[in-house]
Amino acid sequence: MVRSKFLKVTCPGCENESVIFSNSATTVNCELCGATLVTPTGGRASVTAKVVEELE
Ligand SMILES: [Zn+2]
Repeated sequence: MVRSKFLKVTCPGCENESVIFSNSATTVNCELCGATLVTPTGGRASVTAKVVEELE
């Protein structure tokens, strides 16, 4: 069973930190440079950005 959680990630383009939801149903882009951080792939999101920390 997959637990959903929040992830702190660093943008691969500009290194801006964002907090994203691991089961995001929509694409999440960096608010500074527009790089794709998360892509939804069915039930589970694919995280493109580098994960810095997992938050409960
Ligand atoms: Zn960025």
